[in-house]
Amino acid sequence: MTDTSMLIGGKLRPASDGSVLDALNPATGQRLGTIPDATADDVDDAVAAASSAFTSWRRSTPGERTALLTALADVVAAHADELARLDADDNGSLYREMRRDVDTAVFSLRYYAGLTLQLHGDTVPSEPGTLTYSVRRPYGVVGRLIPFNHPLMFAASKIAAPLAAGNTVVIKPSEHTSLSALRLGELVADVVPAGVLNVVTGTGARCGDALVAHPDVRRLAFTGSAATGRAIQRRAAEVSIKTVTLELGGKNPLVVFPDADLDVAVAAAVRGMNFTWQGQSCGSLSRVVVHRDVHDAFVEKLTATVGALRPGLPDDPGADTGAIVNAGQLEKVLSYVRLGQEEGARLCTGGDRVTDGGLADGLFVRPAVFADVDPASRLAQEEIFGPVLAVMRPFADADEALRIANATSLGLTAGVFTRDLGTAHRFAEDLEAGYVWVNEVGRHVPGTPFGGVKDSGIGREEDLDELFSYTQLKNVHINYGHL
Ligand code: NAD
Repeated sequence: MTDTSMLIGGKLRPASDGSVLDALNPATGQRLGTIPDATADDVDDAVAAASSAFTSWRRSTPGERTALLTALADVVAAHADELARLDADDNGSLYREMRRDVDTAVFSLRYYAGLTLQLHGDTVPSEPGTLTYSVRRPYGVVGRLIPFNHPLMFAASKIAAPLAAGNTVVIKPSEHTSLSALRLGELVADVVPAGVLNVVTGTGARCGDALVAHPDVRRLAFTGSAATGRAIQRRAAEVSIKTVTLELGGKNPLVVFPDADLDVAVAAAVRGMNFTWQGQSCGSLSRVVVHRDVHDAFVEKLTATVGALRPGLPDDPGADTGAIVNAGQLEKVLSYVRLGQEEGARLCTGGDRVTDGGLADGLFVRPAVFADVDPASRLAQEEIFGPVLAVMRPFADADEALRIANATSLGLTAGVFTRDLGTAHRFAEDLEAGYVWVNEVGRHVPGTPFGGVKDSGIGREEDLDELFSYTQLKNVHINYGHL
């Protein structure tokens, strides 16, 4: 791995003051190389290039946008193994999972490539001799900020809708996992017209802030933690009126009724927690709410299943989970394990750092299950974004289950397992979440809206609405009657 460059205005370049940040492999502790630590001037350059490119890209035909996104998809697909390799090395997740992420990104690029003709407006009935119609217009420069957990998948798929709608983009990946986005920039430098796509890297405090606060960026889309989302909303408002969409964190409930098949529900709880990504997923069902009739048997099976999960290096075909992305995140996970014990919850399995064998130099934590968790405790309320699954104290009836499930400030996803049709529909209706699974977990059905309610965010993505969200409606009224 060598040092890397940002894509700004069609050119590959380092930070203007030469600053770099180390890219580290969390599974081995090895230094992979460096990434540019962009200055505010570099971000200015990227926004200026994107503004300049917008003057012609806004006039591109739907066919030209389809062609560009298809070309991007082809490039990503042709380099799938290499990009997955970079992600696995850079963020510690299993290679096979990062390889699937690349396929998802390719799908997303092709999906939006196929939607460019859907950017319809309306005609509105008006008086004789007049014509009133609306058209969708792009914003201009879109600032896109993304988190560390699915680096390439987010870098590639989250540029698709804004570009398809005729915007230009400046994207900033997480400083902890920028290698695949930088490589993507290199790979597409000759494919994308100069300035239409720009990749800047660096810290949130310097590079991210400069993008959020740039007066020429009127449309911001952020995926990351709720705390950063609020800071971005506040910061953007200090500068001007900006449209900000936010895909934020979750502390998502999985409710298990006694009529559910216990083995299926336990397997779903394990899958829904996304231990495959060390629990580092916004949609993880990290709070399990189980009926008292099956609670003890559920916890026993869950403990045995999670206890058997094996952390391993990204290429280990037998590994069930990988490394935590960085030392700060590792310490956060371990501190919640300590907190849970202080709060009186029962640690059933895991929660300790792996310090022996071939994993000793990496940031590995054994997947953890807590039981007897007080629904009001911090362990139950705060997003850990790590491999810690918390089973609440058992519930007695559906009203209580719903109260516990909805008693957090976050509301991204939720799941319920029951064979009762009435209970299923009631929970689908009343769970406070943007995405509800009934008798299934984790799946993002292509083309369906993903996003949160309450502190989990504003806006929906992965569907046609995401495309529309990168446009503003303009209404035109023509009076031709007097001509
Ligand atoms: P984060 O909020 O720390 O960082 C996300 C991005 O914002 C990074 O690129 C970071 O550099 C940048 N940033 C940080 N501070 C900034 C600031 N003041 N101004 C501008 N930019 C700033 O999140 P993370 O730790 O990378 O990712 C984990 C979080 O992301 C979790 O909360 C998770 O739930 C959430 N997430 C949400 C979704 C979703 O679709 N809802 C998907 C994945 C992850």
